[in-house]
Amino acid sequence: SSVGLQEQTSPSPTGLLPEFSLKDKVIVVSGGGRGVGLTQAEGLLEAGAIVHVLDLLPEPTPDSDFARVQNRAKSLGTSITYHRVDVRDQAALNDIVGAIADKEGHIDGLIAAAGIQQETPALEYTAEDADKMLGVNVTGVFMTAQAVARQMIKRKHKGSMVLIGSMSGTVANRGLICPAYNASKAAVLQLGRNLAAEWGEHGIRVNTLSPGYIVTAMTAGLFEAFPERKTAWPDANMLKRLSYPEEYRGAAVFLLSDASSFMTGADLRIDGGHCAW
Ligand code: NDP
Repeated sequence: SSVGLQEQTSPSPTGLLPEFSLKDKVIVVSGGGRGVGLTQAEGLLEAGAIVHVLDLLPEPTPDSDFARVQNRAKSLGTSITYHRVDVRDQAALNDIVGAIADKEGHIDGLIAAAGIQQETPALEYTAEDADKMLGVNVTGVFMTAQAVARQMIKRKHKGSMVLIGSMSGTVANRGLICPAYNASKAAVLQLGRNLAAEWGEHGIRVNTLSPGYIVTAMTAGLFEAFPERKTAWPDANMLKRLSYPEEYRGAAVFLLSDASSFMTGADLRIDGGHCAW
């Protein structure tokens, strides 16, 4: 089983408090092929973790960001492995996550970052579009967490999970037309709390992380379509700026490490102080 706070003696590779170390912890990152998930995966590697990514993108090419992170992992003496899978495919998830646990001997953590966004006015939404959004962002997150929890419980190995929500799960976005996205992110918050309640007795912690606006491929498309957002969005928070994927790395390390050992069923909101006028 994973090392408890008291027994932990080895210093963190970063030289910080030892409870922030992820040395030898095996962590699955869905949506880790690019964007926030990949940046968070990089943070986990820096803290000593062994990372397995689940993503829908085609196998990464040698000139991709993923390959750059893979090289960094090598130089840190650890590894990041890519597995192509659709998080809506429960059977495939169980197979892949089971194979990861067999290979590594245990799984210590999960970041569920795979998600999609689609802007369509509510009156034009088709049932198929709404189902797809909820299918990836809610059912996909649920099934990924389930596949990982199965391995943790079967191997009597405690762990920590971080489900990526959004500030859009608790506020309406004026001028951002994504009712199904916001509904999906609200569902992630409640999914997290309930999984935490159900799996707490197995020593599995589940928390959600709710970011504000981040500059990634997901938002780049939205800026192109609606250039006024480049000023309106920064204006909507206390720091008056957008955020970058790197600003969510430390929180991922905190939530997956023993530094947050008594934290579960909680939401960590990192949104620059998003507020109303
Ligand atoms: P990206 O689109 O850059 O990355 C998301 C990744 O998830 C992509 O690689 C995507 O692959 C993958 N993915 C999508 N669908 C599936 C699927 N069915 N199975 C497996 N993988 C899938 O998004 P971000 O990095 O911006 O977002 C990451 C998370 O953060 C999401 O959950 C998002 O909702 C959340 N978030 C983002 C914010 C932002 O401002 N960017 C704000 C708040 C929350 P592919 O490209 O092939 O679809």
